Amino acid sequence: MTLHALFLGAGPAGIGPLVNAQQRGLLPRLLDTGVAVVDRGDRMGPGTIGQHLINSDTAGGTFLECLDDDLFAPVAGSGPRRRLERYRQSAAPLPLVGEFLGEIGAALRGALDAHPVSRFLPGTRAVSIRRSTDGGFATTLAAGEETFELRSRYVISALGGYQDHQRALAAPIVPGVRLADGYADRVLHTEQVLTAGGAERVAEMLAAAGTRRVVIIGGSHSAFSAAWVLLNRVRGEFGPGDITVLHRKPPRIFYPTAADAHAEGYTDFGADDLCPLTQRVYRLAGLRWDSRDLLRRIWSGAEDRVGLVRLDPAVDDGVTTLLKEAAVIIPAFGYRPVTIPVLDEHGRPMPLYGSGPGTPPLVDTRCRVLDAGGDPVPGLFGIGLASGFTLDGPLGGEPSFTGQTNGLWLYQNGIGERILGQLL
Ligand SMILES: Cc1cc2nc3c(=O)[nH]c(=O)nc-3n(C[C@H](O)[C@H](O)[C@H](O)COP(=O)(O)OP(=O)(O)OC[C@H]3O[C@@H](n4cnc5c(N)ncnc54)[C@H](O)[C@@H]3O)c2cc1C
Repeated sequence: MTLHALFLGAGPAGIGPLVNAQQRGLLPRLLDTGVAVVDRGDRMGPGTIGQHLINSDTAGGTFLECLDDDLFAPVAGSGPRRRLERYRQSAAPLPLVGEFLGEIGAALRGALDAHPVSRFLPGTRAVSIRRSTDGGFATTLAAGEETFELRSRYVISALGGYQDHQRALAAPIVPGVRLADGYADRVLHTEQVLTAGGAERVAEMLAAAGTRRVVIIGGSHSAFSAAWVLLNRVRGEFGPGDITVLHRKPPRIFYPTAADAHAEGYTDFGADDLCPLTQRVYRLAGLRWDSRDLLRRIWSGAEDRVGLVRLDPAVDDGVTTLLKEAAVIIPAFGYRPVTIPVLDEHGRPMPLYGSGPGTPPLVDTRCRVLDAGGDPVPGLFGIGLASGFTLDGPLGGEPSFTGQTNGLWLYQNGIGERILGQLL
């Protein structure tokens, strides 16, 4: 039997289009077409978000929006939902967000498992995707010792992201300086710092080096989250200037409106930094919640343990000295999408645009995976962390924003809807 749609990965992004379908009353119609969702883990929903021991950068209320729906009625009374409710207007602990998504995933799994032609396959690893001559796909999957193929009209790849160690080591920091050149044993990626055991590992490295100097490279949410972990979770006290954040672009903070920003004396924005849809200031680029608070305290001088240094890739300006003195170096260079080999009708590997040099996107604005030439592979979609999706017109976002967009709300709304529209 040929399925209509095969979802690879059942994390927050993989379930996004299904949540969107449910909210718009389209889930029964989608499931009637024949859908399978696979994950190498045993649950639908949580993915890896709950492994981060920090608070969310979105208000708890955004995770709860999807509950206005019958299918999720059991979730409404669940423990994780009740605990998440306390964070409706604030940042929520990500482990709790993960638990809550597990409840949402369980409700969706119930719908899939009860359906005659749709299902969830836990403990199933996606191995490769081959285009078939009928225009669909044959995807190779592995469950335990068994390997098998599922045929489908569409494939949605939602396998999450990873931090590329080799790329981070090879990236030029300032002229003639790469982390590969003598710094590799001091490198911890943000993913390592933000997850279980990260704070303890940092403490051990600081103790072994006999200094508490840390350098974080990057100005993103992950960079400031790492600084937050250092200050709040790592044993021992940091002194003034012990932590340096090296950033290329000036870090920005989010405000609900320009008036709110002006009221607090924040004027570092122009018309291009306002979302035309919501009028929010730095809706996409701006730091929020804990990272935002930290940055504001650094700016005001209330937090002197963290220093900000503008990194000019053309000038060393003391950067080498900072790196040499650091016990721990944390590159916050973002994530790359996890992909599996895509093969053409003859079984030959098809290189993807997203695997090229630099950080090209995996998908276009319709979430279609791009081949090496930048053309969409018909029927193959990508969604989720590091897929490279950029917001466009109807979804808003400040025109000045150049990065990619990740977020549960978007997976369940604008981005999920975009994929669903093409599946149905
Ligand atoms: C530190 C951090 C904090 C974030 N905070 C927020 C936040 O506060 N709010 C927000 O909206 N977003 C946040 N995000 C962004 C994003 O929503 C999360 O990263 C989210 O977990 C991304 O979901 P995903 O499904 O793309 O990836 P994942 O959560 O990693 O899920 C991928 C899934 O694919 C499965 N998988 C992987 N490989 C295979 C394979 N070969 N075969 C089968 N299954 C496979 C995995 O088991 C997993 O279930 C954050 C991201 C990071 C990195």
